[in-house]
Amino acid sequence: MKVDLETIFCYTAPLMSNPCVKCGKERIDGKTWVGKVGASSVTYTMTICPDPECQKIVDKGIAERKAKTASLLKIKEEAKLAREKLLAAS
Ligand SMILES: [Zn+2]
Repeated sequence: MKVDLETIFCYTAPLMSNPCVKCGKERIDGKTWVGKVGASSVTYTMTICPDPECQKIVDKGIAERKAKTASLLKIKEEAKLAREKLLAAS
């Protein structure tokens, strides 16, 4: 029986493995910054794809998704305001 080591690694250590969503390469540590959570400081690490071209595509996808979510929230908010207006008028 052939054992796929990569599958075992992903299966047993899902928190350790962080493959790129686009190409599946193991992501590397990019930007690190320290943030505050209450009284303690927490170090955040942003992982990036080792392939800069691929990371660009991933970043673009994230930006697009963010913009989509933002516009959806805006539509929701506008619908809520319109409904409130309607209720206030009646
Ligand atoms: Zn990638």
